[in-house]
Amino acid sequence: MEWIDFALFGDENGLQSALDGLDARQRAEAIAGLARKLGLDRADIELSILRLLIERARPYALPTSLWRRPVTASDDPRAHLRTHFGRIGVAATADRLDKGLDLYLQFREERSRVQVQEADLRRCGYRCEHCGLAFCNEELARRTIVSPFGTRGTKKTDALKPHWNGGDDLRWPTMDHDWPVSLYGSNDRKNLRVLCRACNDGKMDFVAWEQTRSAVGLPKRIQLSLGKVPNELFYTQLRRSPICVDTGQTAASTELTVRLVDANGPLVLDNFVTVASPGI
Ligand SMILES: [Zn+2]
Repeated sequence: MEWIDFALFGDENGLQSALDGLDARQRAEAIAGLARKLGLDRADIELSILRLLIERARPYALPTSLWRRPVTASDDPRAHLRTHFGRIGVAATADRLDKGLDLYLQFREERSRVQVQEADLRRCGYRCEHCGLAFCNEELARRTIVSPFGTRGTKKTDALKPHWNGGDDLRWPTMDHDWPVSLYGSNDRKNLRVLCRACNDGKMDFVAWEQTRSAVGLPKRIQLSLGKVPNELFYTQLRRSPICVDTGQTAASTELTVRLVDANGPLVLDNFVTVASPGI
């Protein structure tokens, strides 16, 4: 089978039985064909697989007794870790115990929504740290903060720029957890970034673009008919290629957005390039 035969499967059961029927040589050929189509080398594929496996294994890193431990418990969490490491047959080194304890404390910590402060905006140059969207007075009006970019004035729209379309709130600054809260990411400053809401919504719980759901490559029919890019697809393209193909500028100095390579092609990741937007 060629890569396109796998991609053309429309139902999960059919695909699964086709995959189950592949022998080792056919599996290797299928991987090689798909990788060629996506421009991935062997190292890319191995790193992607590693990333997915690590995410699936993370819940097993701590024992159930720690996940369920009441906040008021007074016993030593390290004792749970030592027993757990012994049971799964790994040495309870000081480094593993420290990291296990950190992961547990992050999990236990009460995490509420972190608000963007003026100091955070100053630190990021009043730009989304992912797409470079300039936070003008319109985006900051609710916070009584004055933007160094002033007022944008005219409302820009473009079918391929989700953060300039839709509701105004898509352009508001939000605080993003780089390592997602759902994966026990902490409220530590090192883990926080200022993103526009469109980028934050598009990022969802991803830590690598390889993790994006298959929906990134398969927009809903309604989205195609509206010519509207899903936030998820927009975010992932910028994450994959965060530099303007024409000027080499990054989100630190310009508003990056995306452009279709083939205007008649589908709204999928491989049909996008990252470009700088005219304006601020
Ligand atoms: Zn953004």
